[in-house]
Amino acid sequence: MNYSGIKYSDMINGKGVRVSLFVSGCSHRCKGCFNRDTWNPEYGNLFTHKEKNEIFEYFEKYGCVASGLSLLGGDPTYYKNIDVLVDFLKEFREKFPEKDVWIWSGFTWEQLLEDKKRFELISLCDVLIDGKFILEEKDLKLKWRGSSNQRVIDVKKTIEKNNIVIYE
Ligand code: SF4
Repeated sequence: MNYSGIKYSDMINGKGVRVSLFVSGCSHRCKGCFNRDTWNPEYGNLFTHKEKNEIFEYFEKYGCVASGLSLLGGDPTYYKNIDVLVDFLKEFREKFPEKDVWIWSGFTWEQLLEDKKRFELISLCDVLIDGKFILEEKDLKLKWRGSSNQRVIDVKKTIEKNNIVIYE
């Protein structure tokens, strides 16, 4: 899996102080996409043990202020990214069980549910921002999402209730 950047102490992509990992690879081709370079799964650099350990070190050092991890893209649920991210999140969860994980996907919750591997990744997360960016529904006032079709979903509660629960 390649990534285009890692932002430490990020306060924009999710609640609180976060580490945001921007992965490469996306198949959605949304009109008006803000970062077309990341459609290419080869864009950026390989995500290796070095990057993973740097992220872990950040949480060990700044765990008292850092709220959690955010996975953005591209699309973290792009097929080539899933296995690496599942392994990474399992390790992250084990090391930092009190931190939360947010994920952005161009697929909707309903589409993710139909794909066993993608859903395994989503179920390791706390918050999902789902769906493609739709230029006609773009709204700059929205928090954590670019267009009004996208939803900020509380993953754990949605699984528990078997019904979409919006994160508050
Ligand atoms: S899902 Fe995101 S990265 Fe992919 S095309 Fe749409 S806006 Fe761009």
